[in-house]
Amino acid sequence: MKRILVTGGAGFIGSHLCERLLKDGNEVICVDNFFTGSKENIVDMIGNPYFELVRHDVVTPFLAEVDEIYNLACPASPVHYQYNGIKTIKTSVMGAINMLGLAKRTRAKILQASTSEVYGDPLIHPQLENYWGHVNPIGARSCYDEGKRCAESLFMNYHRQNGVRIKIIRIFNTYGPKMHPNDGRVVSNFIVQALQRQDITIYGNGNQTRSFQYVDDLVEGMIRLMGTPDDFIGPVNVGNPGEFTIRQLAEMVIRQTGSKSKLVYLPLPQDDPVQRQPNIELAKEKLGWKPVVPLEEGLQKTIAYFTGKLGL
Ligand code: NAD
Ligand code: UDP
Repeated sequence: MKRILVTGGAGFIGSHLCERLLKDGNEVICVDNFFTGSKENIVDMIGNPYFELVRHDVVTPFLAEVDEIYNLACPASPVHYQYNGIKTIKTSVMGAINMLGLAKRTRAKILQASTSEVYGDPLIHPQLENYWGHVNPIGARSCYDEGKRCAESLFMNYHRQNGVRIKIIRIFNTYGPKMHPNDGRVVSNFIVQALQRQDITIYGNGNQTRSFQYVDDLVEGMIRLMGTPDDFIGPVNVGNPGEFTIRQLAEMVIRQTGSKSKLVYLPLPQDDPVQRQPNIELAKEKLGWKPVVPLEEGLQKTIAYFTGKLGL
């Protein structure tokens, strides 16, 4: 039985990961400060003797004897990470330093939840891991983008200098049950708006694209990456290459919910990337992984979750 630390374990992705790790027969320590996560996400695991919940902020050091660390602590929605940009940078950078220090002391393997945002508003399409990105270092998104880029650099430097066993995963837009209804990200916004018969808020003209991955596919990719030999460290893209415009997504949500909501067009936020699609050849080769849940099916499951959550 491995003892596995998940930072950000009460969040959307973290809570799915904790469930899967427990199911696979591991002991799980979930560390979270509940900034965007919630106890509701993990309530089914509380009481399981192999699950420990610790309220802790990763900006300060954390000590425990662990075999593996999944470092997910960081707000991921633009609305939340821009709420207190300084704190977002501290969480990414100091959180990475503290968790890498722990990995160094305990000789644990550590996986960093990085992001497609390290590519910024990309000038190549689809994005490959060897692309260095096109990031505005002083813009509204930079607290997140540069924080994550600095975390990747910290991971590489701990690996090179101290031989820490690292894995870097670059996650593309992920959605599914347990997203917060007020999370602010596009899939949860559109579904909640459609179910509540509110206007669907498209930012800009809706021609910008994203590639949406269902959370179960991501969790499978994370676990496979952690299980690769020590000489494979990534970074590796994990996402669903199916690319949709935001308007197409809105239309799908309306169709699948049978909603009468109307589309409204609001200003595009600063530095909103125009196009995003992962090249996943490396994940296919090294992890034997590819996504298996199409958008339509994943949306159905997510709509069912929000229907229950909103008491509709
Ligand atoms: P989320 O906001 O639901 O989860 C983040 C979790 O981290 C929350 O539980 C939050 O309370 C916790 N947290 C935040 N700051 C903390 C701190 N200082 N100390 C301890 N805990 C803290 O977001 P998510 O979508 O589950 O994202 C999880 C990770 O995956 C993040 O690192 C994010 O950057 C990365 N990621 C997510 C996506 C996506 O589409 N969901 C895409 C790329 C990368
Ligand atoms: N978006 C939108 N309406 C919303 C929320 C988001 O049109 O209510 C757009 C947003 O401008 C972006 C895309 O959807 O172009 C994805 O936004 P999200 O915040 O989900 O993720 P990110 O921009 O980080 O990929």
